[in-house]
Amino acid sequence: MIKTTKSLIYLMILALMLLATLPGWAQKKYVMVIHGGAGTILKANMTPAKEADYREALTLALKTGYDALKAGKSSMDAVEVTIHTMEDSPLFNAGKGAVFTHDGKNEMDAAMMDGKTQMAGAVAGVTTIRNPISAARAVMEKSEHVMMVGQGAEQFAKQAGLKIVPPSYFYTKDRWDGLQRAIKQDSVKAVLDHVSKKSNLLGIKNRDDKFGTVGAVALDQAGNLAAGTSTGGMTNKKYGRVGDAPIIGAGTYANNETAGISATGWGEFYIRNVVAYDISAMMEYKKMSLQDAAAAAIEKVGKMGGDGGLIALDRAGNVAMPFNTAGMYRGTVTEDGEIEVLIYK
Ligand code: ASP
Repeated sequence: MIKTTKSLIYLMILALMLLATLPGWAQKKYVMVIHGGAGTILKANMTPAKEADYREALTLALKTGYDALKAGKSSMDAVEVTIHTMEDSPLFNAGKGAVFTHDGKNEMDAAMMDGKTQMAGAVAGVTTIRNPISAARAVMEKSEHVMMVGQGAEQFAKQAGLKIVPPSYFYTKDRWDGLQRAIKQDSVKAVLDHVSKKSNLLGIKNRDDKFGTVGAVALDQAGNLAAGTSTGGMTNKKYGRVGDAPIIGAGTYANNETAGISATGWGEFYIRNVVAYDISAMMEYKKMSLQDAAAAAIEKVGKMGGDGGLIALDRAGNVAMPFNTAGMYRGTVTEDGEIEVLIYK
């Protein structure tokens, strides 16, 4: 009798040891993934103080989202409160820190998507909504539409009870100086292109002043995914230009069956490649893993001449954060509250 119990215990220990060697075992589930933009983020150009500020802001965002998820809130709620912290920080190109358009305005885009219901909402070209991500959610939950733009979106946000601020709220010296640099660089480039008879197709080749978009993807306790993205777009963008962030399937997408995705980078390329939906489609139709699909999507953007990155999270809690730039502000938090913040390659 004692002998059989002993061998049973040995067998169980052996089985456990075998299980531990399988991939996925003991691997922590990621519950929240964020980005704060991709671009020419080089350690050489960063002061220790600036890097510490970014790390602190990214940690606060992750902690805020984690606390919401731990309290049993939905992934939609977690994404929204997480993005609020980054929209309210002057460090990121979203909300308070939004970049300037060519004519010196701050025109913001945002979107949210619920992976459980496939409902989505977006706003574009808004100039007075303090937290555009909440306006995107309001469009989804309080209107029969998916996307609203400009003044109409602002009027709708006001009716929905969201915080409205004067456009001057979005002024930061850093972003203003960035616009002046971009205008100079773009005019030099236009002259050079003219001399060399090359046409200046987009006029926004230099992205150094243009990164900082924010995004979050969350997985809640009920197993539902949600994704959100908020941005000021690209410095020196022309009047009325809309990027990929508010376009469902380009910069933002969520589907419980595949993944939640939020992108950042040169938006025109993300729109033309339908990047976020492409990842979901590769997973759905080709049965590709999250990692492989995300990497393939970024490779396509790069081949076309675009740059940037993205974050993706699936229902099993796998995460992918590929980018083809020098750096991407990004971070994750796992189910046990362990926070990781990364900036460089
Ligand atoms: N994707 C954003 C846009 O094109 C910009 C960025 O992520 O840096 O509007």
